[in-house]
Amino acid sequence: MSKGTIVKVSGPLVVAKDMRDANMFDVVRVSDERLVGEIIEMRGDRASIQVYEETAGLGPGEPVESTGMPLSVELGPGIIENIFDGIQRPLVKIREMTGSNITRGIEVDSVDRQKKWEFKPVKKPGDHVENGDIIGTVQETILVEHRIMVPFGISGTIRSIDGGSHTVDETVAVLEDSDGKEINLTMLQKWPVRKQRPYKQKFTPDEPLVTGQRNIDTMFPLAKGGMAAIPGPFGSGKTVVQHQLAKWSAADIVVYIGCGERGNEMTDVLMEFPELKDPRSGEPLMKRTVLIANTSDMPVAAREASVYTGITIAEYYRDMGYDVAIIADSTSRWAEALREMSARLEEMPGEEGYPAYLGSRLAQFYERAGKVMSLGSEGRMGSISAIGAVSPPGGDLSEPVTQATLRIVKVFWGLDAQLAYSRHFPAINWLISYSLYNDRIAKWSEENVSKDMPKLKSDAMRVLQEEASLQEVVRLVGMDALSKGERLTLEAARSIREDFLYQDAMHEIDTYCAPAKQHRMLAIIMKFYYMGREAIAGDIDIDKLFSIPVREKIGRARFVDQDKVAAEFSLMEQEMEEQVKALVSGGGEDA
Ligand code: ADP
Repeated sequence: MSKGTIVKVSGPLVVAKDMRDANMFDVVRVSDERLVGEIIEMRGDRASIQVYEETAGLGPGEPVESTGMPLSVELGPGIIENIFDGIQRPLVKIREMTGSNITRGIEVDSVDRQKKWEFKPVKKPGDHVENGDIIGTVQETILVEHRIMVPFGISGTIRSIDGGSHTVDETVAVLEDSDGKEINLTMLQKWPVRKQRPYKQKFTPDEPLVTGQRNIDTMFPLAKGGMAAIPGPFGSGKTVVQHQLAKWSAADIVVYIGCGERGNEMTDVLMEFPELKDPRSGEPLMKRTVLIANTSDMPVAAREASVYTGITIAEYYRDMGYDVAIIADSTSRWAEALREMSARLEEMPGEEGYPAYLGSRLAQFYERAGKVMSLGSEGRMGSISAIGAVSPPGGDLSEPVTQATLRIVKVFWGLDAQLAYSRHFPAINWLISYSLYNDRIAKWSEENVSKDMPKLKSDAMRVLQEEASLQEVVRLVGMDALSKGERLTLEAARSIREDFLYQDAMHEIDTYCAPAKQHRMLAIIMKFYYMGREAIAGDIDIDKLFSIPVREKIGRARFVDQDKVAAEFSLMEQEMEEQVKALVSGGGEDA
């Protein structure tokens, strides 16, 4: 173990000499207070250390000791429902120990050592197991079955396996490896956060992570194992969108990493998340959630570590065969931490002072998303879908963090303060948003929702785009300049916006819309457009077309109960045909 001496302290950065034997990314203990830090640069015998705790009062001459270990997380039952800081220290536990402020250098286990879990073996003596195989399960919460896996690099034959009540560090199984050596397995593993957890194979994401949000699922879908970015100008409804995703997306586990800029922002999350209910089970959402929180009283360096801590935990549950959603809010604050450390290291600054490696660091985070087959002889499919919020200053999407993010992610949900101001929710601007998973998911919807879904969707998008250019014309020369066809386009676009894209997160039924209902809703709206186009070829009164009675029903279609969808929508379709036909055949008389 390498021991050195502090020569310089600059905020969260400490430089120590006599550290020749230490390695890059070693965790170190700084000063007699034993603050936690990590080596982020080695030059000769000098180590630059990023310290995860407040460094005030430290000075040259104080000792630094390397632990010889990389920054790691503890993986085992007890992670779900927990709230950790950026280096996986349990916040509630710390508060119990020390009161509200984190005392420096505190030693606390990430995962509770006292708590007993009921371990149910799924293997028996004599079974051969390899890394990634599940040897037993633990009911971690009412919603999550924790699957105890053989750690990486270990394989052998089970000699004994001990079901029943155990703490995480008690031996639950004994293996004999090929050299006849005995290995004790517990329910606890460690993993270095900066290293991706291995898997057998990665697959191209090809099915959607259904969220029940029409604007997302139909227009700009995220794939299971995909990556999305969402900018959130203040007041644009970002919090509501994130909560909707956490509540409704088809993920088994949610990992939420909060890097708030202002203290109260993170407190909001810490207060709000534990209040949310999992709508499907009625249980608290925390029963399938892990929160990683960087409150404002923690130094910026901890923010930098938090995304790695979060994604490593996500990978661990993915390896169990779960679909995990990870939400990082916001990656801009994380990038600012990078920028601050880079400046203190006196690195050559890139654009707007961010380090030149900003893009590659962001990519390293998002790359750990994906749909994979786990290690192990049985191999399980699991996925991590990564959603990163960005907070561009002044909503300027051309700034470096947003630009670097957009080069990596495949989905962009452009939240728009203007739309939120006019109370169109979710305020995802359909003209700037996109999803590069469209093609693959179109195939999925053809097979699983309806053959005509991709066409309905692309026609609807076209109508919305035409609306944008027609609005320009209307602004210049007024409504009277428009042809019947153009007026129909505007009317159809209004209906797509107000009757389909608008979705009330607060309404009991509208808050979640299943893919089948999304299809029926879009189909009836587009049916009006298709039938309207045929109708206006003849001589009809277009205002009468716009006010056929069934359209009022369409306006309320979002409130149709899930089990009445088939009947109600078929009725609406029938009514529309009758009403448009009546208008067309009566059109001549009116004239
Ligand atoms: P931000 O986090 O961007 O500041 P919020 O997510 O807190 O904004 O949203 C601000 C307000 O907008 C909410 O309190 C709510 O009234 C409204 N709102 C946002 N999204 C929706 C939605 N999908 N449905 C209904 N109301 C919404």
